[in-house]
Amino acid sequence: MRALVKTQAGPGLEMVEVPQPSVGPDEVSVKVLRTGICGTDVHIDRWDPWAQSHVAVGVTVGHEFVGRVEALGPGVEDLEVGDLVSGEGHLVCGRCRNCRAGRRVMCARTEGVGVTREGCFASSIVLPSGNLWRHQPGIDLEVAAIFDPFGNAVHVATAFEILNEDVAITGAGPIGLMAAIVARHAGARHVVVSDVSPYRLALAESIGATKAVDARSTSLRDTFAALDMAEGFDVGFEMSGNPAALRGLLEACCHGGKVALLGLPAGSVELDVSTVVMNMLTLRGIYGRQMFETWYAMSVLVDAGLDLRPVITHRFDAADWAEAFETVASGECGKVILTWDED
Ligand code: NAD
Ligand code: ZN
Repeated sequence: MRALVKTQAGPGLEMVEVPQPSVGPDEVSVKVLRTGICGTDVHIDRWDPWAQSHVAVGVTVGHEFVGRVEALGPGVEDLEVGDLVSGEGHLVCGRCRNCRAGRRVMCARTEGVGVTREGCFASSIVLPSGNLWRHQPGIDLEVAAIFDPFGNAVHVATAFEILNEDVAITGAGPIGLMAAIVARHAGARHVVVSDVSPYRLALAESIGATKAVDARSTSLRDTFAALDMAEGFDVGFEMSGNPAALRGLLEACCHGGKVALLGLPAGSVELDVSTVVMNMLTLRGIYGRQMFETWYAMSVLVDAGLDLRPVITHRFDAADWAEAFETVASGECGKVILTWDED
């Protein structure tokens, strides 16, 4: 089968022929239909310092996918050939303290699909059956393909109470945009999104943000007057990984404000901790998705009419992966989808 592989410890990826993976006990083989490209995949392609220290050379990349179950290993009972599924991209150890306490999202020893084990940018992927999520019938294939990053957005948006609250989101990448859609759906009052890219600010406006502000010229605090806000945002979502964005977000929160951090800064970040202390802020790091409460929430949200399609801006055939990766790297896009096979 064909697969997009990190064939060497240096920049680049190659589409190569690899053996069809075998299916062991409790495992499932999925025929891949659509995949989403994540910033992580671009880091692996570019071979940046993070990739150099985390990625197994020889691995098939990619972790955002939807596909059809094509083969079941011995002992699989909950899935059938033909089911439409996506996969949770973190495999947990099942033995650490958190796993044994049922807090699988906090596993001390996760493995990453498309990072340390074979990913989904291929004709097929094999995963443990427990990592697969069966979709509701009739779901849009492209929406199903991006359940992994949608899960990051839902995990963040459900970290704190947001009904009636004023929410600020720094970073209008695909995940920030999806979080804005969820916050709107969940009954936030104002949802203010900041970015430094005019393309992404326009996308934020089109998906219904109350206000999209260019962080190069306007701080989050500058928006208070026009929005009739006196004391600051109740809740913040940091979705950019940019240190200045995080600092600006903390400064724009009300006393007692709550901030969920998803964005991954490239290095350490200098913060005015006295703002956190004096303003009694809560900061919470968010990683991955709750297994599988976030997946349940995603299915219910989509079923209830939440529409993610405006976040998907570009589509390519898998053969044109290099152009698709360039599009993601350019930032002039929302979510970018690759087609591997027709349904
Ligand atoms: P992305 O890189 O597409 O989006 C980040 C956005 O932040 C970009 O649009 C960029 O223009 C914007 N930005 C840069 N500087 C800014 C500033 N000063 N103020 C406001 N915006 C600014 O990323 P994404 O795929 O949407 O992911 C969002 C973040 O979450 C990334 O940092 C990613 O690494 C991280 N991430 C974390 C997890 C997790 O589990 N914690 C999972 C996936 C992604
Ligand atoms: Zn564990």
